Amino acid sequence: MKVPLLDLKAQYRSLKTELDEALIKTAESQYFILGPEVEKLEKAMCEYIGCKYAIGVSSGTDALLIALMAIDIKPGDEIIVPTYSFFATAGVVSRLNAIPVFVDSDPVTFNINPKEIEGLITKKTKAIIPVHLYGQSAEMDEINAIAKKHSLKVIEDGAQAIGVQYKDGRKVGTLGDIGCFSFFPSKNLGCFGDGGLVTTNDDALGEKLRIMRVHGGKPKYYHKIIGGNFRLDAIQAGVLSVKLPHLDSWSERRRQNAELYSGLFIESGLASKEGKIELNSTEKILLPKAVYKETGHKNYHIYNQYVIRVEKRDELRKHLTEKEIGTEIYYPVPFHKQECFADLKPRFEKTCFSVSEFAADHSIALPIYPELTKEQIEYVVKCIAEFIK
Ligand SMILES: *Cc1c(COP(=O)(O)O)cnc(C)c1O
Repeated sequence: MKVPLLDLKAQYRSLKTELDEALIKTAESQYFILGPEVEKLEKAMCEYIGCKYAIGVSSGTDALLIALMAIDIKPGDEIIVPTYSFFATAGVVSRLNAIPVFVDSDPVTFNINPKEIEGLITKKTKAIIPVHLYGQSAEMDEINAIAKKHSLKVIEDGAQAIGVQYKDGRKVGTLGDIGCFSFFPSKNLGCFGDGGLVTTNDDALGEKLRIMRVHGGKPKYYHKIIGGNFRLDAIQAGVLSVKLPHLDSWSERRRQNAELYSGLFIESGLASKEGKIELNSTEKILLPKAVYKETGHKNYHIYNQYVIRVEKRDELRKHLTEKEIGTEIYYPVPFHKQECFADLKPRFEKTCFSVSEFAADHSIALPIYPELTKEQIEYVVKCIAEFIK
């Protein structure tokens, strides 16, 4: 049985008529960049996320970049980021000649560990970028409290977490100063290319982000500030407007798939609900943990990825590839071990990264997309059990 990591064609088939119409509408209007389609999407996003400003931008990476530019990050400023995330989270910091300061992961959620942050704050620290990894909110109360105490800005990297609710029910992207989202095709809400969004409730930042998106010109050709070309295409906004009403039901399907996986792993005796970080003989698989599930908010987790931790991860991956099951490693190398950050080494020689290093060596993402069938999930679990036993 074939089980791809992601099957975007299945989603396209389910909305083909509406999506094709949206594409043709852009072709007929010949209005390609920003404009009414983008404005319509931004309005819908404000409502969906519950924020005052939602500004469509060119990608998730650019969302992070424009956010840092909007809070005036300068060369030499220090920005606190988790060491375990997609590269963009730290890459954007370096692109502004600022310095990413890496923090280890929480051993349960693998999000940034708030307890490790304060010890890394210096006079140069300007902001924290928590990532809502795999589709579950970082521990924002603790992060915001630290930020407040030290007058730091908080930029949320919600690229994997659109629609996710924190424990108090508020959605990510409204919890810090600026929220950043990605519409890369493999995210829960993906467009037909690159796209992104920044969100804020702050009037001054909302205005500034909007101006910076078009090179900082307002009125056009008059520049008080320097921005860039961070614009979202109308064609992407049209696609996203068709998809947005379905996002919650897709995320619900992902949660159901996750429940099914976890239930089957527990039934098979390979995992327990409590999932400790030490893999031992009675527990072969560490399951992802939805820590805000008990809060009763529907979008406590949207499972952009369903990531388990196992021993002999690379051998398991090879076994699953042979069985035609798609998997991926998110992520094999934490930032503090990336070659491009080697010059920063003296800065973090004393920092402990044991949790993220464990994650990098043991994590494997299984197919979790909404259209998966029960039979496919049972097959994946069967193949994993076969390998471990
Ligand atoms: C996908 C992703 C990004 C970047 O988004 P793009 O749209 O691909 O530029 C940034 N941060 C995280 C955590 C991501 O998963």
